[in-house]
Amino acid sequence: MTIEAGETSEAKPKLFVHEGLVEQGVDGWRLIGSRCTDCGELRFPSARACPACFAPAERLARHALPQTGHVYTFSRVLRGSPPFGGSYVLAWVQLDGGPRVFCQLDCEFEAEVFGSPCELVVGALWETEDAVGVGYKFKVTQS
Ligand SMILES: [Zn+2]
Repeated sequence: MTIEAGETSEAKPKLFVHEGLVEQGVDGWRLIGSRCTDCGELRFPSARACPACFAPAERLARHALPQTGHVYTFSRVLRGSPPFGGSYVLAWVQLDGGPRVFCQLDCEFEAEVFGSPCELVVGALWETEDAVGVGYKFKVTQS
């Protein structure tokens, strides 16, 4: 696994907390959602049925989602509960041609980032004395 952002201590074990939700391909990391074969609805994460047409899970195909989008809305967390210590930003990111994704957002904490373009990265989500939690998040590329 290549960790692209939020690199932390090399000595601590890294726990990949989003197993099955993100994969690394030839063109980088991709969120793995689903596409309804009946109506085309894209969803992340995949569901037991299509939320648009109620097609059952067997008609939802695995689908690699776009790597870029823009910040739909965000919220600053001043004091995270364990294992999320300190402060961080959470956001809904509207993927380019895809669904909205709830995630951590790498940006300046005080920045106003409504509508800012961002891209998928995989990196540290939290760090304790014993381990680093690694998973997907988005990084603002221009604010
Ligand atoms: Zn559908």
